Amino acid sequence: MGVDTQVIPALITLVLQNYVDFSNKKLGEASVKSLLFLTYKTEDPEALSEAQKYEFLLKLFDRNKEFFGERVARSDLEGLVKKIVERYGITKGYFELIEVLPKGVFDSEKVFGGAKGDVEERVTERTKELETVKEELSQRIAERTKELETERNKFRVVLYNAFDGVFALDKQKRVIAFNKTMEDLTGFLESEVLGKSVNEYVKLEDNEKKPVTSDVYFPLLKAFEDKSVYKAELVTLLGRSSKEHHVSLVSSIIADNQNSDVGCIVTLRDVTQQKELEVMKLDFVSIAAHELRTPLTAIRGYLSVLLSELSDKTLLNPDQMVYLERSFLSSNQLFTLVENLLNVSRIERGNVQLAKETMDWNTLAQQVVQSFEALAKERKVALSFTPIATATKVIVDPIMISEVMANIIDNALRYTSSGGTVHVFLEPRDKDVVTHVKDTGQGIPAESLPHLFSKFYRVSGVLEQGSKGTGLGLYISKEIVKLHGGEIWAESEIGKGSTFSFSVPRS
Ligand code: ADP
Repeated sequence: MGVDTQVIPALITLVLQNYVDFSNKKLGEASVKSLLFLTYKTEDPEALSEAQKYEFLLKLFDRNKEFFGERVARSDLEGLVKKIVERYGITKGYFELIEVLPKGVFDSEKVFGGAKGDVEERVTERTKELETVKEELSQRIAERTKELETERNKFRVVLYNAFDGVFALDKQKRVIAFNKTMEDLTGFLESEVLGKSVNEYVKLEDNEKKPVTSDVYFPLLKAFEDKSVYKAELVTLLGRSSKEHHVSLVSSIIADNQNSDVGCIVTLRDVTQQKELEVMKLDFVSIAAHELRTPLTAIRGYLSVLLSELSDKTLLNPDQMVYLERSFLSSNQLFTLVENLLNVSRIERGNVQLAKETMDWNTLAQQVVQSFEALAKERKVALSFTPIATATKVIVDPIMISEVMANIIDNALRYTSSGGTVHVFLEPRDKDVVTHVKDTGQGIPAESLPHLFSKFYRVSGVLEQGSKGTGLGLYISKEIVKLHGGEIWAESEIGKGSTFSFSVPRS
């Protein structure tokens, strides 16, 4: 590649000039310089090596070919190359050049003027196209944004106007949604609470007046045993002006929330009215029971007097005696029902006051068991009692807790057929004493066990038909034991018998 170093810049100039000559529009000097710079990081051809200069010459031709392509007249180009060769005698360069120039260059006879204009025109065209695309794009973005906005508003409107109180928290327990019902319940506006820590605005208490904070309904999932829903049947919401609302609460914790910042969604349902109705119902039951009790006591009293006065005389025939006895029995059942209803309404209204005393549990339990000896004999069931070896003090309301034990022993005797046994035994533990009443009755089906202590629950089937209970005894017993801070439970096996147990705290 032995090209004369002096010649190269001149050659470049010549090429440029010649192009300018026949096409008027050509790569200007600036373009050459920028091409030089782009390729070799210099604008000075002299800074190039021999080989680079030659290479650049080819590149330049190549470039020109790109720009003018087939639109360069063959004669013009041949003339140009000839001139170069005659003047500078670069034979090698000549052949190389001829080789790089595409065939089409020589085939075309036509010379197009205004090549730069052409390029400019194309650039303008492309720019216009791009402009249109850009416009279309921004229009589509605007449309999509509007759609999203509408979607978001729809969601907001639905949430805002939901019947229940709904609010959502982010992972830092700050409020990110707060609907209209929440505003009504709390007295705070959405705008006041958004972004704020929730506990200042949504104040909740359980029925023991303990605060139910976001740590309770939105705990760390680990502490939550992987459950993602927290429910509370009845909590009190303290509004802005200390206005109280009774609400039920359901909190759904969003465990898999990588895509959003929502931590939990809480729904509050106002059950104040329900609660008021409940109170009215209890009031009604209690008033009705009270009103029934007085005449019932009189009926029972007179029937009892009649029975004792007439039993050894022959004023009544045997059938009439049976009627009288049945009337007395029924009046007793009715009296128990009325007493139980009164107890239930007292318990549910929280009107039960315990008169606690410290006493020996052996003595108290034995007294209750003894009071059932007559019934056990009548039912032909062997009733036994095993006290604790040493005296054990407990803190109880003796009347109330005796009622619990009596109810369980009464059930055991009633639901055990003759020939069976009922064994009452006590088990001292660290902090409490457990009383077990074990019978050899027919047992209770496993599916009924969880419901035994609910109001009005009676095991359906044979047992139910054979006895005349109210289904309130165990419910009342459970509530009384709870008031003492103890627990009550039952174990049973069909055909083998049941064991009812309850605990009371030791002193
Ligand atoms: P009831 O007045 O019907 O006895 P309770 O609340 O005392 O009401 O008992 C609820 C139900 O539990 C009873 O109806 C009976 O079906 C069942 N039950 C209670 N104790 C026993 C027992 N020792 N053996 C079998 N079933 C029992």
